[in-house]
Amino acid sequence: MTKEVKPLGNKYIGAHVSASGGVDEAPLRAKEIGANAFAIFTKNQRQWVAKPLEASTIRRFKEQCQRLGFSADYILPHDSYLINLGAPEADKLEKSRAAFIDEMERCNQLGLKLLNFHPGSHLKMVSEEECLSTIAESINLAHKAVPDVIAVIENTAGQGTNLGWRFEHLAAIIDQVEDKTRVGVCLDTCHTFAAGYDLRSFEACESTFAEFDRIVGMHYLRAMHINDSKGGLGSKLDRHHSLGKGEIGWDCFEYISKDPRFDHIPLILETIDPDIWHLEIQTMREHHLAV
Ligand SMILES: [Zn+2]
Ligand SMILES: [Zn+2]
Repeated sequence: MTKEVKPLGNKYIGAHVSASGGVDEAPLRAKEIGANAFAIFTKNQRQWVAKPLEASTIRRFKEQCQRLGFSADYILPHDSYLINLGAPEADKLEKSRAAFIDEMERCNQLGLKLLNFHPGSHLKMVSEEECLSTIAESINLAHKAVPDVIAVIENTAGQGTNLGWRFEHLAAIIDQVEDKTRVGVCLDTCHTFAAGYDLRSFEACESTFAEFDRIVGMHYLRAMHINDSKGGLGSKLDRHHSLGKGEIGWDCFEYISKDPRFDHIPLILETIDPDIWHLEIQTMREHHLAV
């Protein structure tokens, strides 16, 4: 039986796959859902410390990526949820910065170029402005400690005291990062919508991305998280849903699939039902190839 080879076009679509059993297990999981991009945690995301990556794991990860056709340009590691690069308290900030540098180092060892992270929270202890400067300084320190890896700031839904939900926050951080070639943005569609930027129609997408371009700049867009939202527009709720089943709806994902501004960056599903990831990827691809 000959296997049908479908064209992939210019879209790099995947999902945040499990790295249980080791990061070197992840590429195969991504391949199995028809992905040509993927995201992973390079360590347990709920723990501060992890044992260093074994040389054999690193070797096998690189071999698997090469064998299965995954380029480092389209692999988007996500850092630990515990890290707060804008932490107002000195001891917590120090711990977060050390953990972030370790995450960046792990990416570097794996030959990866991008590290996706949530900017940080002010915890009502300092002003937004001060917290954004602390985050930028944390990125500057990480840049000095580890070569090559790009810090990819994810926009947030604005839950609690998390910053990064307004495009102005992202712009303020980038503005204070010294090496602009190593900073970028990952827009999460669920977070964008929950933060109050409409994405429910082509027109709404047009104006939201125009605003992003005006305030931050499309050239800083290094990745996207493709999620529908359980919460409504401006709800500030970080609750992902399967594509087309939430408050955003398919128009947004069709828009992204068709627009060449989203070519050649990882488009990563973090939707709630891994059993249908292969269908979500396939539908995105069909929209893309239908142009
Ligand atoms: Zn995230
Ligand atoms: Zn996300």
